[in-house]
Amino acid sequence: MQIDRLKEMIEESENIVALTGSPLLEECGYPYVRYAEAIYDIESKYGYSPDELFSLSMYNYRPELFFRYYREEVLHEKLTPSETFYALAELERRGKVKTIITRSIYGLCTMAGCQNVIELRGSVLKNICPHCGRQYPVEYMMKSQKVPICEDCFTTIRPGIILAGEMMDNRLVTQAADAISQADMVLVLGTNLKSDLTAQLIQYYRKKKLVLIKKEEHYLDRYADYCINDYPKNILPQVIQ
Ligand SMILES: [Zn+2]
Repeated sequence: MQIDRLKEMIEESENIVALTGSPLLEECGYPYVRYAEAIYDIESKYGYSPDELFSLSMYNYRPELFFRYYREEVLHEKLTPSETFYALAELERRGKVKTIITRSIYGLCTMAGCQNVIELRGSVLKNICPHCGRQYPVEYMMKSQKVPICEDCFTTIRPGIILAGEMMDNRLVTQAADAISQADMVLVLGTNLKSDLTAQLIQYYRKKKLVLIKKEEHYLDRYADYCINDYPKNILPQVIQ
């Protein structure tokens, strides 16, 4: 039985690193199963692609449009963490999961109560004034008309997210690679090994418990030590029972 085997592997581990992929957003109410649909809808509505809208140059040169997109499309999603994220938080409380690495910007791990989360692309929960460093919650961004301004120094606040055209923070990538190199088990959730970043990070793993849990089969699955083809929300909560 797959669950029993997974339970056993987790039982034997003391330093599990979990990697969550963006397909997990589907479990959390994200309306676009396929990213292509989202691109088409956004382009028809705004006249620009999501990458153009959520870019550093749009923030600098057309901030009103940038923040309209941020409010109406990014913050508006109202995603809530699926059972998968709560199971991860529970495994962290039990001392099994030590680090969670994510590329999602929606702060779902944090919302579910996970503590040690490396958010490689930042999070919508952290909006920051680039001048004085004051942080602002999502509610402040949602309430603001047009361009949100810092109450202390009147600078335009920015989302604490890596925008299109910006580099990922190398320190975070190094931190993620370090966590994986020290892990006794790596749990890849909702994604396969094809994405560049996952592949790059997995290289640092040296042990024999690379586990994938995701719905669709992929030819790279054979590089994992164990693979369960199902939605993580159907599997992970059972492990903590
Ligand atoms: Zn400020």
